[in-house]
Amino acid sequence: MPWPPRFIFIGGSLAIDFAQTGGEGWRSRWESWHSPSDLADWAEASPDLRFRPSVTETEFAAARALREALWFTARAHVEHKAPGATDIALIEATAALPDLVPRWHGGRHEWNRDAAFAQVLSTVAREAIHLFGTDRVERFRECANPTCSLMFVDNSRPGRRQWCSMARCGNLTKVARHRAKAKGDDHVH
Ligand SMILES: [Zn+2]
Repeated sequence: MPWPPRFIFIGGSLAIDFAQTGGEGWRSRWESWHSPSDLADWAEASPDLRFRPSVTETEFAAARALREALWFTARAHVEHKAPGATDIALIEATAALPDLVPRWHGGRHEWNRDAAFAQVLSTVAREAIHLFGTDRVERFRECANPTCSLMFVDNSRPGRRQWCSMARCGNLTKVARHRAKAKGDDHVH
């Protein structure tokens, strides 16, 4: 897989994938939502949504605000700190609205495609509360590369996932170890 792809779905969680699409400050370097149309493309590409919603400018702004709240709540968990009350309040208020309605289509799960965008945001917010508010949180972690801040839920059975992605960090670290060994220096871990 070429890196970086346009959108990164390594989170093992809708809310974590949503939170890691860019953001304010230094995170604007990896902004992948430049317009409502980008956000609609992201939803269509998301393994958890798989449809292209219509997104207004106001809804786009709401999505970006929710993303900040999710990012800081996730980082608080990584850093073993209490999440911010304002962030939690926004996530809860978003989750309180109606969420997406699932249906069977040809025997497969899909969401109602005529959904209002607020339903998409509610689904994202509800998944975040489920992730951070249940034992699933024990599988929530940060990439083992110290220069990478991507987070994920380890859904693997053994629960030993270390990297956001082999393509991005796993291989880089393997190469660093290999080079260190070749130089007779094994201090790189
Ligand atoms: Zn990484």
